[in-house]
Amino acid sequence: MKTYRIASIPGDGIGPEVIGAGLDVLDALARRDGGFALDVKAFDYGSDYYRRHGVMMPDGALERLKAFDAIYFGAVGAPDIADHVTLWGLRLAICQGFDQYANVRPTRVLRGLDSPLRACAPADLDWVIVRENSEGEYAGQGGRSHRGHAEEVATEVAIFTRAGVARIMRFAFALAASRPRRHLTVVTKSNAQRHGMVLWDEVAAETARDFPEVTWDKMLVDAMTVRMVHAPASIDTVVATNLHADILSDLAAALAGSIGIAPTANVNPERNYPSMFEPIHGSAFDITGKGIANPVGAFWTASQMLEHLGEADAARRLMAAVERVTAAGIRTRDLGGDATTAEVTAAVIDAIEGGNA
Ligand code: NAD
Ligand code: MN
Repeated sequence: MKTYRIASIPGDGIGPEVIGAGLDVLDALARRDGGFALDVKAFDYGSDYYRRHGVMMPDGALERLKAFDAIYFGAVGAPDIADHVTLWGLRLAICQGFDQYANVRPTRVLRGLDSPLRACAPADLDWVIVRENSEGEYAGQGGRSHRGHAEEVATEVAIFTRAGVARIMRFAFALAASRPRRHLTVVTKSNAQRHGMVLWDEVAAETARDFPEVTWDKMLVDAMTVRMVHAPASIDTVVATNLHADILSDLAAALAGSIGIAPTANVNPERNYPSMFEPIHGSAFDITGKGIANPVGAFWTASQMLEHLGEADAARRLMAAVERVTAAGIRTRDLGGDATTAEVTAAVIDAIEGGNA
């Protein structure tokens, strides 16, 4: 039997609520499957750790995490600590430290759910957004001069390297090639941003030559938001920069029903470091501790993690169990239902144990 070593970092806010639910579901799945086991070690990194130690995670944390097959992550962010401190101190430190340069965000309308778009049949919305996850607008470059003075200038420099763009473009074309429709939309803003974004357009055209089986088109990011709303069925696989794809994928999640269902894989495709799996939502202070957070994003994320580990069957069974539950109308408030986190979790575990999934 294969045993996978999982580092869980529940983090802040609703992170521990949804990751706890996800671990219960994974446990049920492994017991039912019998073919694999998960050896989970929890790390208390996050805002509480910061309040005690002044850092989000200790020195040497990456060295410790390196030994795991995957990282299962909740969320970071607390009302009393600046968001850039928590984000850079933990999540981005792991993504960049482990060269998880491909952020993969599937979106589709799960069984029984509706898109808020009036003219969108569930089958019309089946997308994967690939987010460049290592450079671009989140390269961390920039600075402030004359701080606090009227003449203050702040720069936020987006860095795009040919190597960085080429590797995400190749990843996105290959992913598009593996999907039934084999279509890729390359999103940029090359009318206004005439250096980095023009490099994206050039590298896209060069990469496309190696993937003749993939059809592709280009969109400016502002026009892309309109296309997502008016012509969802025209979209299949999407690749965009760190910032653009961050925004587009929140919109995508909302168009599929709720931000509470959407998953993310931060993938290190070369597999020389662990990849990290997390729901796309944040720590959601407004609902923390109420027991009403939607755990589906954490379940879908767990399914992505199983697929990455090579347990594709278990990954499929997990999503089938989730969709039995959404189809049965057992939903949290963000999806218009009244079920609690615990009720949705119990229903998914039932579906797994009943073997109905
Ligand atoms: P958010 O995703 O936490 O919340 C946005 C809205 O969606 C809130 O109304 C929230 O209640 C709702 N929501 C989110 N997840 C839900 C779920 N599972 N079930 C039901 N409703 C859900 O975004 P925000 O409010 O912009 O950010 C809150 C904090 O989270 C900030 O500190 C931010 O920096 C952080 N954040 C972290 C990550 C991450 O760790 N990857 C991502 C986004 C935001
Ligand atoms: Mn985001």
